Amino acid sequence: MTTTTLARSPSAALLIEKEQHYGARNYKPLDVVLTRGEGVHVWDVDGNRYLDCLSAYSAVNQGHCHPRILAAMTEQASRLTLTSRAFRNDQLPAFYEELCELTNSHMVLPMNSGAEAVESALKVVRKWGYEIKGVAEGQAEIIVCSENFHGRTLAIVGFSSDDQTRGGFGPFAPGFRIIPFGDADALEAAIGPNTVGFLVEPIQGEAGVIIPPDGYFTRVREICTRRNVVLILDEIQTGLGRTGKLLAEQHEGIEADLTLVGKALAGGFYPVSAVLSNTEVLGVLKPGDHGSTFGGNPLACAVARMALKVLVEEGMIENSARMGERLKAGLGAIGHPAIKEVRGRGLMLAVELHPDAGGARPLCEALKGLGLLAKDTHDHTVRLAPPLILTADQADWISERFEAALRSI
Ligand SMILES: *Cc1c(COP(=O)(O)O)cnc(C)c1O
Repeated sequence: MTTTTLARSPSAALLIEKEQHYGARNYKPLDVVLTRGEGVHVWDVDGNRYLDCLSAYSAVNQGHCHPRILAAMTEQASRLTLTSRAFRNDQLPAFYEELCELTNSHMVLPMNSGAEAVESALKVVRKWGYEIKGVAEGQAEIIVCSENFHGRTLAIVGFSSDDQTRGGFGPFAPGFRIIPFGDADALEAAIGPNTVGFLVEPIQGEAGVIIPPDGYFTRVREICTRRNVVLILDEIQTGLGRTGKLLAEQHEGIEADLTLVGKALAGGFYPVSAVLSNTEVLGVLKPGDHGSTFGGNPLACAVARMALKVLVEEGMIENSARMGERLKAGLGAIGHPAIKEVRGRGLMLAVELHPDAGGARPLCEALKGLGLLAKDTHDHTVRLAPPLILTADQADWISERFEAALRSI
């Protein structure tokens, strides 16, 4: 098996140089310049093929350039793309209905990026607190977890526990309280008379695929109900089949009051996000309270409708559960001394290396040389989240490449 780095042409080097020169340097990407994608695979400008084990942070669950989503997008793009919500369009009602029926929700607020869905939920929950719960104006408090990731807006980074995420961007909005993730007693203790919501990820993705203890969410649900606190689950990464269920909350047998979805909601073709709710919470919004020029536009709706349809009709959610088990077992069987733990649910997996094993970044560089793209997180963890259309052969191939990369470094 070859461990040499794949060829890189002068044209790729030039593109990298140009990007470095003109672009804000807020990312440090692997030096692979992609130009085409199909299914689980992407190709770089030199024609090298890679299996994509990041899926654009789970935005491409349906696989790259899914032909049915592409067809829905081009058809809608040639008919009507944007009306703004000043007028109605014929795609939005169908999108609402299909999304509500699929997720067992009563009301939808359509937005674009994931961070916008989070911001919208925070606004709505505060308003619910004042109008329904009876919290005194300006006093609403929202509880969040340490090591959270909910996006990059000012309000959101203000309640991050990560120094780089917050650093240099203050002052921040008040009204948030941080508790440890996975600790139901801490939630119970943190709730006061002004607490209106608890915002949490079912599995902390950016923190390195951190799974809470068994029974945590059963207790969280019980506490939030008893204390009249809105439970907001951020399923932007865990949702839409990633963990082997439509929503990760289904593993816990609970239902959130507000559920946030985004990313794979449009299969990687378009930024589409949504706040899903019962009628009581989203019901507080009156005309003019909140909005978005692009939210709920007909192109977004047509793309999202098809992205959801293929996810269900083509069995991607069940496949995620099956292939996730297979890949986790395959990675677990490698038994290399550098591996500390293989964890995850469905196709949301992570391999944590021992702290003295040389780091996750060099391993990701080696994997790239072997035709596999993955992302290092927090120095010692490699995240593996391929599209949900992964086959058994491809799952086995990932494990095999992973073992080869470990041996090469
Ligand atoms: C990606 C992500 C977001 C933010 O979504 P953007 O589209 O990047 O704004 C929020 N929450 C979670 C859990 C995410 O993974």
